[in-house]
Amino acid sequence: MGDHDGPADCIFCAIVAGQAPARVVHETDDTLAFLDINPITEGHSLVIPKAHATDLHDIGPDDLAATARSAKQVAALLTERLGCDGINLLHATGVAAWQTVFHLHIHVLPRVDGDLAFPFPIRGSSADDLDALHRRIVGG
Ligand code: AMP
Ligand code: ZN
Repeated sequence: MGDHDGPADCIFCAIVAGQAPARVVHETDDTLAFLDINPITEGHSLVIPKAHATDLHDIGPDDLAATARSAKQVAALLTERLGCDGINLLHATGVAAWQTVFHLHIHVLPRVDGDLAFPFPIRGSSADDLDALHRRIVGG
């Protein structure tokens, strides 16, 4: 989409095209899942739509639904094969959210008890601030 030029400028499009290697764990007509080369946990996999979309704003609803369905199947596969205790799904849209590869992907992170420390400090907010924020979001 946009000024995207296919496998020449997108590593995940190159994987879909068979022009870059990947350890594929799951595939459908519209999606592909493969092991992350720099895993956070054992079995860390990425699920992508085969059609290039940059991020959550760019992807169409059908490809997003297909990618979400595949993430569920990959979660089941990893749970069955690796015997993990839990799963995190993570997604980044935008540099500010830590996106580094600009072809939409969902991280599937197998978790075992006690493997990682909780990474997000709780920001906290007063009820008044939450009310003001709520008005900003929904209008009025
Ligand atoms: P994000 O920061 O959410 O954009 O995550 C991008 C992820 O892609 C990182 O976890 C990288 O380790 C992973 N990654 C980058 N290149 C490859 C590749 N060629 N094969 C598998 N995973 C990759
Ligand atoms: Zn791409």
